[in-house]
Amino acid sequence: MPTDFDTIVNLAKKRGFIFQSSEIYGGLRSAYDYGPLGVELLRNVKDQWWRSMVRMRDDIVGLDSAILQSPEVWMASGHLESFSDPLVECRECNARHRVDKLEDPDTCPTCGNSGTFTDPKEFNLMFKTHMGPVESEENVVYLRPETAQGIFTNFENVRRTARMKLPFGIAQIGKAFRNEITPGQFVFRTREFEQMEMEYFCYPDDAADTFQEWVDLRHRWYIDLGMTAENLRLREHDPDELAHYAAATYDIEYRFPWGWDELEGIANRTDFDLKAHMERSGEDLTYFDQERDERFIPFVIEPAAGASRTTFAFLLDAYTEEEVRGESRVVLKLDSRLAPIKVAVLPLSKKSDLVETTQKVAAALREKWQIEVDLTQSIGRRYRRQDEIGTPYCVTVDFDSLEDNQVTVRDRDTMAQDRLPIENLATYLTDHLPA
Ligand code: ATP
Repeated sequence: MPTDFDTIVNLAKKRGFIFQSSEIYGGLRSAYDYGPLGVELLRNVKDQWWRSMVRMRDDIVGLDSAILQSPEVWMASGHLESFSDPLVECRECNARHRVDKLEDPDTCPTCGNSGTFTDPKEFNLMFKTHMGPVESEENVVYLRPETAQGIFTNFENVRRTARMKLPFGIAQIGKAFRNEITPGQFVFRTREFEQMEMEYFCYPDDAADTFQEWVDLRHRWYIDLGMTAENLRLREHDPDELAHYAAATYDIEYRFPWGWDELEGIANRTDFDLKAHMERSGEDLTYFDQERDERFIPFVIEPAAGASRTTFAFLLDAYTEEEVRGESRVVLKLDSRLAPIKVAVLPLSKKSDLVETTQKVAAALREKWQIEVDLTQSIGRRYRRQDEIGTPYCVTVDFDSLEDNQVTVRDRDTMAQDRLPIENLATYLTDHLPA
């Protein structure tokens, strides 16, 4: 972890992980673009989540619901009425702040004046737009502020078509939009972001145990993917902090450079959502259990994580500055499953026969992994660049390779080098790069 947070922001920009949105126009605050390396990292984070949630389980299926939904959805879910944060404005400098995030609720952090805040008023965080060519009240729609509601409204569609039996889950990854009062800390809090949410429907009597299981599973997911355990903690919500629909909530928090902050929330949402949609839509969203001969509304456990926020935490956590053999280097010690580039193939020189062999080796590896060929600069500088973007393996093609058909594989973390025949390379990498 870097000592200051600008270090990672600079690295992210310099190496092409994350750029400010609309940068050539001076930048749009609180929206970001993911560059060639960032898009790979973000995608790998989402793929690992999908793998553990959907692919490796037979009780969870996926969904991709629309960003635009009927406004009725947000009436039923309570978002139109209460998805808001308390906002105050400083009478001195006109800065707006979220009261619950102020260190001193009486002092404006922008200008330092005290006692200058207006009374707090509730500010709804949903982005509003119009559907179709007429900008009238009847045509108002909202950009979804979470992916979860699309899951609840499809509960019956999915249960029926995928023939799911309790307990089962529906997982979704997608964009969400919140008109945050105080976005900031790079991609930690933005107005457009991606979520990874799963709703696990279960028997009401099992909900408390299932909730604990998901808290453990989700906590372990971060550690399994290499996040430093000491930088993670579970924090249970106090009863007065709980959302009105939740029976219990844990946050998985990460030790960000500014302090502990949320990566993911796991909530026991009881039967609140299905009941609310059932009442508003008039559709039957109950579940009939044949074995028990009972009809009831399932309870739901929701692990809700941010894909962009989690990606940022993995970047921070992987950042390492170290001294090796009298030289200092920066290395992103990302788990190889998350690393944007798995293998860099580097010819020792730009001589054409070396480049030709390099391209051949790279082409064969591309079938399975994200590969980069880098021809520029000295080999030392190229290794350093790959370390800085977290590439687990560098394969070097040298002059001997043309004679003996062998290449050198360098390990990012140990910097140890193995010489092996090109024909064994794919097997070697398969052994060293888990899916
Ligand atoms: P916060 O208290 O930080 O505003 P929240 O408790 O409202 O977050 P949830 O509604 O539980 O957040 O959303 C689930 C996850 O979505 C969060 O844990 C976070 O990772 C992500 N998330 C929420 N808001 C944002 C945002 N504005 N930018 C990036 N990620 C976000």
